[in-house]
Amino acid sequence: MNLIQLDASNLSLLNKIKSAKTKKVKKILLEKTIGSISKTSKMPCYSYSIPAKNCNIGSILRKVKKSVCYFCYAMKGTYVFPIVKLALEKRLKSLKNPLWHLFLIEWIKITNKTNLFRFFDSGDLQNFKHLVKIVKVVNALPKITFWLPTKEYKLIDKYLEYREFPKNLVVRKSAFLIGQISNFKNVNTSSVNVNEKKSTKFNFQCSAYKTVKIDNKFKVFQSKTLAMAFINKYYSKTINDKSNKKKSSDFIGFCGNCKACWNKNLININYPIH
Ligand code: SF4
Repeated sequence: MNLIQLDASNLSLLNKIKSAKTKKVKKILLEKTIGSISKTSKMPCYSYSIPAKNCNIGSILRKVKKSVCYFCYAMKGTYVFPIVKLALEKRLKSLKNPLWHLFLIEWIKITNKTNLFRFFDSGDLQNFKHLVKIVKVVNALPKITFWLPTKEYKLIDKYLEYREFPKNLVVRKSAFLIGQISNFKNVNTSSVNVNEKKSTKFNFQCSAYKTVKIDNKFKVFQSKTLAMAFINKYYSKTINDKSNKKKSSDFIGFCGNCKACWNKNLININYPIH
């Protein structure tokens, strides 16, 4: 199939999706085309991810002991479950689809509930074309705020040479090394383990590691130790019940009511290593 034929068949599929009567049918068709998007249970929105092993800068950093990627959470845990790996690979493959961005726009439209969206809870920008398509998605959905964390600084700088990012896109250049905080004039940033007692707009401290969900409400504790002690006491029955597969970690690590990562006014967000 040549490019023109491919575009024609994609366009007809896109129209079929747009005119489908139910969300269920739309989702089935979208899933077949570009794969699913992920609902991360501890964040307030859907997100889009691809395999972390395909990160360009990340693959180099993973070999560096003091780097953030050395401890990459997306190379372990649920991310390596066969079913998750398959979904990540499918999404990566779908980036070759010339109309990928148009399909993603439809996905976001039918799943959006909070007007927030995150790119790359796993993976990173693959090339400049990928970034340009992401900006097209952002521009098409002005009511939604998008958070794009990336280590692909060159791609960001290349984009910013001639234009600006849309207002509803928060690009955060993520630090390469643990304990490193950088001051880039053109975009926001994020760091790991640059802990300061006071949260300021120059270094906002993420509290997810000490945020617990209790009976559908969130409670932020003063420390992770206190949060864990609470969980073990409050949920001890659930955790110790062998027929129940819940672990202590299932009750902690929520964004809760925090949306700091999507806030452009907060220059740097600092996360503890996990
Ligand atoms: S800073 Fe807030 S929004 Fe960002 S990851 Fe932490 S809890 Fe979630």
